[in-house]
Amino acid sequence: MIRKFISRVFSGKKPKAGKHEPAIIPVSTHGITRDRISSGSRRVCETLQSHGHKAYVVGGAVRDLLIGAEPKDFDIATDATPEEVRRHFRRARIIGRRFQIVHVMMGQETLEVTTFRGTLDEKTKTDEHGRVLHDNVFGSHAEDAARRDFTANALYYDPTTEAVIDYHHGVADLKQKTLRMIGEPRARYREDPVRMLRAARLAAKLGLIIDPEAKKPIREMAVLLENVPAARLFDEMLKLLTCGHSVKCITQLRDEGLHHGLLPLLDVILEQPMGEKFVMLALANTDERVRQGKGISPGFLFATLLWHEVLAHWEKLKAKGESKIPALYQAMDTVLDVQAEKLAITRRIIGDIKDIWALQPRFEARAGKRPYALLEQPRFRAGYDFLLLRAESGEVDSELAEWWTDFQNADGGKRGEMLMPEQAGDKKRRRRRKKPADSGVDRSSAE
Ligand code: ATP
Ligand code: MG
Repeated sequence: MIRKFISRVFSGKKPKAGKHEPAIIPVSTHGITRDRISSGSRRVCETLQSHGHKAYVVGGAVRDLLIGAEPKDFDIATDATPEEVRRHFRRARIIGRRFQIVHVMMGQETLEVTTFRGTLDEKTKTDEHGRVLHDNVFGSHAEDAARRDFTANALYYDPTTEAVIDYHHGVADLKQKTLRMIGEPRARYREDPVRMLRAARLAAKLGLIIDPEAKKPIREMAVLLENVPAARLFDEMLKLLTCGHSVKCITQLRDEGLHHGLLPLLDVILEQPMGEKFVMLALANTDERVRQGKGISPGFLFATLLWHEVLAHWEKLKAKGESKIPALYQAMDTVLDVQAEKLAITRRIIGDIKDIWALQPRFEARAGKRPYALLEQPRFRAGYDFLLLRAESGEVDSELAEWWTDFQNADGGKRGEMLMPEQAGDKKRRRRRKKPADSGVDRSSAE
């Protein structure tokens, strides 16, 4: 050990990442007893350990427990190969090609079990900017720790001894509320530019400060995000928007200069002067729902993010003389055609988005049978929530939203009293709209 140290000092070499001894922090210091982790993750670790393997809960779960937050899920790191892991569990399957991981099912839980990753070397395949393309070499525990992004994410919890194994002073950094990169931040962003987004998201979500060393290069390196596959960026954006702190995340990204053509959705969010209030309200609303443990639908979220684009197109088409409803459908298609490609939005989500948008003009009809028919629509609730946001942002009169709130809650008799008188010409206009030749400017301006 001493010889090693002396030779290191005299050769002037820095200690290699992952070669030093970790701190073993006992439960008496950190206070996380084994009952704080899920029973599934405990059993997976115990089973692997009983077969002579190392196995720990790792990453976000340990970090979250240390700062008193509720972990989202429990990931496991082990020195067992994926094949070995699979053999030890009845319900387990290997997934992924680029880097195999094993999904182990324990009761209701699915645990992600990952074999320790090895150090990157000159044989590692990268693109011309240094982004790592293949990452399928297994390694030691220390190497695995060095491959993780932030010190707070490189903590391993052993359910058997209840100790936290800390190779990179992650516990101390967490205590100081700091998100610190393992290794040289520029090199780590080059390997994987998504780490810049992870920095922004984790800092916002956990109330941590990005260490200045890790923060400094982001602005100038942000352009590397252009080389990241769209689907990966999209996944990361979705995580960011649904983490319960999206407003803070967006502000953080804007402050770091992480938008303008780099990120799907973000330009849409930040570059709509008319719609920014609406989008920010929608995100605040999403954050609230996430924090209350309520579900959020990607369809609703996208419908809000893209609504003001639809409105702009819709207005243009109406100004050109298109009639109201066909113009709305055309505007919806135009916006979705452009965005769906960039954002890899699935068909099902597109269906949801369209339903929400298409319901909007129908809220204006408050006479006759139409309000009753609208209440029966399967997507009524989402459409109504959307209307509330429009009213709150000042786009539509709040009186309309209040009317719908009251109408839903009223009983049969009261509902009848609330109806507005049918407007003369309603039906005639609808009939005329069907004639293809008749799409004159006059009529659209009347609508
Ligand atoms: P969350 O609370 O969002 O789940 P997390 O840190 O657990 O946060 P995951 O994407 O679940 O994020 O990743 C699990 C762990 O894998 C991380 O804690 C980190 O150790 C490692 N990891 C994830 N993404 C990267 C990356 N891009 N580079 C290096 N390590 C990563
Ligand atoms: Mg996680």
